[in-house]
Amino acid sequence: MKTGREYIESLRKLKPRVYSLGQRVESVVDHPLFRPHLNAAAMTYELAHHPETTETMTATSHLSGQRVNRFTHIHQSAADLVTKVRMMRLLGQKTATCFQRCVGLDALNGVFSATFDMDSKLGTTYHQRFIQYLRYVQEQDLMLAGAMSDPKGDRSLSPSQQDDPDLYLHVAQRRQEGIVVRGAKAHITGAINAHEIMVMPTRSMGEADSDYAVCFALPVDSTGITLVFGRQTNDTRRLDSEVDVGNAKYGIVGGEALVVFEDVFVPWERVFMCGEHQFTGQLVETFAGHHRSNYGGCKVGLADVVIGASAWLAECHGVEKAPNIADLLAEMVNLSETCWACSLACAYEGWKTPSGAYSVDPLLANVVKLNITRSTYEWMRLAQDIAGGLVITLPSQSDQDSPEVGKFIKKYLRGKKGFSAGDRIRMLRLVENMAVGAGLPEALHGAGSPTAQKIMIRRRANLEAKVQLAKTIAGLAEDTFLRSITGLSEDDYFGRSRT
Ligand code: SF4
Repeated sequence: MKTGREYIESLRKLKPRVYSLGQRVESVVDHPLFRPHLNAAAMTYELAHHPETTETMTATSHLSGQRVNRFTHIHQSAADLVTKVRMMRLLGQKTATCFQRCVGLDALNGVFSATFDMDSKLGTTYHQRFIQYLRYVQEQDLMLAGAMSDPKGDRSLSPSQQDDPDLYLHVAQRRQEGIVVRGAKAHITGAINAHEIMVMPTRSMGEADSDYAVCFALPVDSTGITLVFGRQTNDTRRLDSEVDVGNAKYGIVGGEALVVFEDVFVPWERVFMCGEHQFTGQLVETFAGHHRSNYGGCKVGLADVVIGASAWLAECHGVEKAPNIADLLAEMVNLSETCWACSLACAYEGWKTPSGAYSVDPLLANVVKLNITRSTYEWMRLAQDIAGGLVITLPSQSDQDSPEVGKFIKKYLRGKKGFSAGDRIRMLRLVENMAVGAGLPEALHGAGSPTAQKIMIRRRANLEAKVQLAKTIAGLAEDTFLRSITGLSEDDYFGRSRT
């Protein structure tokens, strides 16, 4: 298993075609805009080696029997699913941002079970091919960027109905040695600092969309792949200051990129679906379930940090004993622990798929994510409330350092006795980074927007069974269950009870 530093150094061997702020980036590793994202992802490697965290961060491979980084592991039990969300919370606490590697982990698990089912039903040979690839990923301890979201163009039209066929990534050519793909994947987390990109279909497809039912993995620097790095709130502060960034070590959100595939060749040994449209829905749902369940781990880890920052600021401001502040802090904890409980629940309710891999409870996974889309905004709103207006009106680090005005900042922006202006500003900047910036819409749209969760919740809610329960209690339908366990009609059962 790689250490954090070995991971970062391993990226030097790759030469992805990356653009940022209109410029070609020569070295992802050395660019100040990207370094915080690399540092966050590096923690997924580093903590695997620490005695206190290694149990959480590693697992025994069911393929090799070797200890591997948990981010390359296929879940073998519900306990594995629970440990996974504990790992997410731990990393959220340590980085206070997105550590990116989970998307690839969820892709590995989704593709593992989907390829097994495809082979069982269609007689294809994707699963063995995928296992070979998985062995390689585990042995090399690779970071995969999972790439699912297509640009989608006109969302009222299916992939094959778009006026530009490339608005969904698709197979442009089938050759004896492999396939050629064309299109793009949007807002792909960790793509510029991943070793490989695993592409999956973005939605359930029909027969007409068979060319869009494609899944494969390639090194990020494969010929024809271009990555255009996305912007985040206040990102260029990284170029000239440390304090103003708020979380200079690990940054904010996941360093997303638009990944363009211009007639990219994929050898058959790296293709895990090619035309099997019937299995696109299953792959999307399994992947999304895994990823949505994570959010009650990683975002709750972030909540732990922002709650700590809020409690520190309350003390700095001399209001830590004020009842309204205690109430706000308790509410933040209540909201975050509720999301944590949801995440644990869908892991404990995990089930064994025919492939042997464990999957989370799909209904509860969507409930986790839907709660996160709301609760994150609420606990970050409460963090803003406790921090006060200064969270958006602070002078810059340059002003603090200025011989002319720095003295005013030190004098007027300190907290109560014992709390310097410098420390207070650092903590306020952290709250700004977490509660005002790109992290909020990330909690809303990452792993799918709220509507996507509601569709899945409606589909999995089993409303018919709930209607039947209500009809039975209201006396509109006979209680057949009661008859089956007592052998008596309701009249006889309750009549005997009354006497
Ligand atoms: Fe992982 Fe959370 Fe980032 Fe998704 S948002 S990649 S689950 S840290």
